[in-house]
Amino acid sequence: MTDLVVVGTGFFGLTVAEQMANQGRKVLMIDRRDHIGGNAYSEAEPETGIEVHRYGAHLFHTSNERVWEYVNRFTSFTSYTHRVYTTHRGEVFPMPINLGTINQFFRSAHGPDAARALVREQAAELGGKRPENLDEQGVSLIGRPLYEAFIKGYTAKQWQTDPRELPASIISRLPVRYTYDNRYFNDAHEGLPTDGYTAWLERMADHPNIEVRLGTDFFDDAQPASKKAVVGQVPVVYTGPVDRYFDHAEGDLSWRTLDFEQEVLPVGDFQGAPVMNYADTDVPFTRILEFRHFHPERDYRDDKTVVVREYSRFAEHGDEPYYPINTRDDRDRLKRYRELMADEPQVHFGGRLGTYQYLDMHMAIGSALSMVDNKLQ
Ligand code: FAD
Ligand code: UDP
Repeated sequence: MTDLVVVGTGFFGLTVAEQMANQGRKVLMIDRRDHIGGNAYSEAEPETGIEVHRYGAHLFHTSNERVWEYVNRFTSFTSYTHRVYTTHRGEVFPMPINLGTINQFFRSAHGPDAARALVREQAAELGGKRPENLDEQGVSLIGRPLYEAFIKGYTAKQWQTDPRELPASIISRLPVRYTYDNRYFNDAHEGLPTDGYTAWLERMADHPNIEVRLGTDFFDDAQPASKKAVVGQVPVVYTGPVDRYFDHAEGDLSWRTLDFEQEVLPVGDFQGAPVMNYADTDVPFTRILEFRHFHPERDYRDDKTVVVREYSRFAEHGDEPYYPINTRDDRDRLKRYRELMADEPQVHFGGRLGTYQYLDMHMAIGSALSMVDNKLQ
């Protein structure tokens, strides 16, 4: 007897399943992929043994104490601190924008107050107007010259959408600092799972009350845990795309997908850093990841390295949906899908795809814990 069906074995689904299993419920998890873990899945590249995050670099960070306590039940974390660099017109700058970036860009030696005054002057074109989209938010945060150098081209490659159509929140994720601190994240806790993401994900699923069926699509009527067979019979937590659940009845929600071009190179170190962004539009990819640098504490071989170039484009049906684009049309559609969800009380929609929200891992885990508290008891 199954008490709960969970569709999707990403962090959202695993957190719900683990919590419910610990309360004595029998949970059946299905995933259409051939592995658990959703987009956080990683594996050792066979030639080098270097851990590669199959769906793009995943950095764990959180200030949520409940989530931090929870995740530490399954893994310890290294002391890795994420730092990113960006190449603009043949020169490398630190990201996110900090005093180092500002002084290098303007060939200046400003202190924090002088740099703030300079940026304020360059943001004055907005005339105090509240920024309503990514373009205005960028200019308001850092002024036009820095925006055009480091944000405009990168954002054009990443989103291929007019920045005036994109929500300001996309770049509000990036801090702007008037110190030389170039940490990418501001959170209280940060690190990478000591023995890799997959070991962590497997420990979450390792419970006698959890059964996992891989290679199993919820919409395949021929398999016993299909939508047709289970909805109305047993509670369901669904973490797949919300528009797919309703057969796209209100139209497609738009997503960006990524193409990853992976290469093993015969050098010990290719770029000296885990992530190098490419800010200019004449370079077709957005960034290069070099995975050995995520684990400097590991004893990887020093004659080969693994790099991944990331290219971004609109997702078509059949592509992996990675980033919700969230245009005004999308937001209208989502509202209509939410009305349909309300008519489906035995199905709980969660996670990145099920709620059409960009969720970091700690947010997916935190919202899954809340769903267990509030809806599944
Ligand atoms: P997912 O991990 O997407 O899992 C959903 C699962 O549902 C998938 O396994 C899918 O196969 C399955 N599924 C979908 N449809 C069906 C179906 N019909 N039948 C059966 N199964 C189905 N977060 C961070 O905190 N730090 C980062 O640095 C970071 N980097 C990221 C980089 C990229 C490129 C992306 C895309 C995401 C990144 N994230 C990062 C976000 C992180 O991946 C998510 O927070 C996390 O994976 C959310 O988990 P989820 O369970 O909601 O979704
Ligand atoms: N961004 C940018 N230049 C950069 C890094 C980020 O313009 O060098 C913008 C871009 O619009 C991007 C957003 O900031 O989509 C969020 O960046 P983040 O690094 O959080 O993106 P992710 O790692 O999620 O792709």
